Amino acid sequence: MSLPLVAIVGRPNVGKSSLFNRILGERLAVVDDRPGVTRDRHVAVAEWSGRDFFLVDTGGFLPAAREGLDAAVRRQAELAIEQAAVVLLVVDVATGPTDLDQHLARLVRKREKAALLVVNKMDRPGRDDPRAADFHRLGVGEPHAVSAAQGYGIGDLLERMLQLLPTDPGKPEPPGLRVAVVGRPNVGKSSLVNALLGEERMVVHSEPGTTVDSIDSRFARDGVDFVLVDTAGLRQQAHFADDAEFFATLRSARAIERAEVVNVVVEAPMGLIRQDLRVIESVVEAGRPAVIAYNKWDLIENKEERWLELERRVREHHPWLAHLPALPVSAQTRSNLHRLPGEWRQLGDEARRTISTSELNRWLEAVQAERQAPSTRLGRPARIYYATQTGTRPPRFTIFASQPEALHAAYRRFLLKHLRERFGFTGTPVKLEVKKSQ
Ligand code: GDP
Repeated sequence: MSLPLVAIVGRPNVGKSSLFNRILGERLAVVDDRPGVTRDRHVAVAEWSGRDFFLVDTGGFLPAAREGLDAAVRRQAELAIEQAAVVLLVVDVATGPTDLDQHLARLVRKREKAALLVVNKMDRPGRDDPRAADFHRLGVGEPHAVSAAQGYGIGDLLERMLQLLPTDPGKPEPPGLRVAVVGRPNVGKSSLVNALLGEERMVVHSEPGTTVDSIDSRFARDGVDFVLVDTAGLRQQAHFADDAEFFATLRSARAIERAEVVNVVVEAPMGLIRQDLRVIESVVEAGRPAVIAYNKWDLIENKEERWLELERRVREHHPWLAHLPALPVSAQTRSNLHRLPGEWRQLGDEARRTISTSELNRWLEAVQAERQAPSTRLGRPARIYYATQTGTRPPRFTIFASQPEALHAAYRRFLLKHLRERFGFTGTPVKLEVKKSQ
């Protein structure tokens, strides 16, 4: 089932991205494999009071160069409002209602969307600030005073927002291992899905009329059922580059969330480029295992040399991806396509794998013998008592220690690296957290 979408709309500089970041909140102190350097997010899964939802910051998608900013804001807001379950219309208390605010409010009213009016930059709290009341005339209900920068009013806002989220769980998912096929435009996602499914294509789930959702197709290989969550089958309806990015980002985020494993398609002639890395990073962040399919392999002349080169580049420039399985494929000649379902199955198995506590603790002893835990402020090594697996999909481990803060990020990464060397977990993110032992 798709998570409901909450769209933050508003004109530039009202504080949309501050609100976005504020709602996402402080991330848990969990270490994983991401380098976290290219993060520049506008779509993320957020959680409040145990409910998950997609949060989209529409301001994040910049307008095409030749186009006015206002026009882009309007168009993106319109797209987002169309897709959203709940709209957070953000305005700036300092400026009062502007023409663009009026326009966006009209869009919300026209679509009859559940919406909350968020009056931001209320840095001096006061519910009956007359300046906030002024926004009543936008006609989208009670103004909610917040300060995204300082965190004031956010809890109340989200409580209201939760009441507006739909509770209908939607259609049940068809059975089978769910595989999302993602990648930037033109890498060959559609071609690959078509080549894989051929005549077998059987659409089991699609929601016509919505532009962001994916198409699910079921097929079986070697007695295993798969459901391909295909973001490419839907042709882009966007006329502007930023809209295309907006749709593509949203679609792939939703597909990734609904899938158990992810097939990332990239172009072999091009190799991994920045946009590919962003896609992969969002997969890792979502905690899903992934395989990289280097497509258009038919175009490569010196295949052996090229493969070594691609492998070398990952090792040298993107070591955090080194554990992801990769395959050269061609949607056109079908070469290696038959190997993909097996890879997906293995990824699913790896992400669900568990390690016994006794095995983990033998590993923990060995790893500490190799590199002692860092010292606490008293100059003695921090004591690590034991480790246990606290989750799967992705595998998650908790280490109990006398003073968690002494186990700094570098040591945690060392533990994680060692854990992978010992136990594998090929292709799947692995999370590690340290807790204080009582
Ligand atoms: P999508 O946007 O990722 O779904 O990409 P498409 O499937 O629409 O493919 C983009 C372009 O790449 C099209 O012109 C395809 O014919 C071409 N293409 C896709 N796969 C292959 C392949 O394996 N080899 C070659 N030579 N071209 C391919």
